[in-house]
Amino acid sequence: MRLVLLGAPGSGKGTQAAFLKERCGCVHVSTGDIFRKNLKEETPLGLLAREYMDKGALVPDEVVLKMVSERLLEPDVKSGFLLDGFPRTIAQAEFLDAFLGERDLGLDVVILFDIEDEVLVRRLSNRRTCRSCGGIFNLLTLEGDKHACPACRGELHQRDDDEESVIRNRLKVFHEQTRPLVDWYAGKGLLSSVDASRTPEAISEEIAAILKEHGAS
Ligand code: AMP
Repeated sequence: MRLVLLGAPGSGKGTQAAFLKERCGCVHVSTGDIFRKNLKEETPLGLLAREYMDKGALVPDEVVLKMVSERLLEPDVKSGFLLDGFPRTIAQAEFLDAFLGERDLGLDVVILFDIEDEVLVRRLSNRRTCRSCGGIFNLLTLEGDKHACPACRGELHQRDDDEESVIRNRLKVFHEQTRPLVDWYAGKGLLSSVDASRTPEAISEEIAAILKEHGAS
């Protein structure tokens, strides 16, 4: 399957992607994760992206498009992909459309994670990520030690861009630049939405029903 997960930062795309990649046998491609990996390794791409990420702004399209097209040409993506955090602008969506069209491929479904901003701000400011396994947790629901990953005991840390003023900017950018994709994909008959304020388990069930409708087991 070829899926796009569309939603504001903190709407739960990454958490669902972790469940979904097992279920649909497709590769998880998160542009945010690729930038963070490059940043950690201090590559030129990572250093360039940092300028934008620190402010909660989008990395320019030409940089993102080059990176995504290289990733989508890798052999593991042949069996399907789960795009998380891409596309984020109409130009990116048009690029993806053309890229797939040239290969006689198309998207199966775009899943919109629907949720209010205030819920997101609360969620993001309590979000912690494991430095070792990349697991995503919420301090409000995490039981016991708030500094260690419950899965692998790795160190839990807060992403720099999960600081409140940066979160507000990321949401503003989402509404201005990414939200228009909702109508764009709805117009193509590809959009299905889930209520992203629910628990991860409930959202997974909703997504499973959507995938079934689209012919995935
Ligand atoms: P994310 O983890 O998806 O929230 O992405 C973190 C940051 O990486 C974003 O705030 C942007 O600065 C950058 N980024 C990720 N994906 C994209 C994209 N598709 N277009 C532009 N910038 C992106």
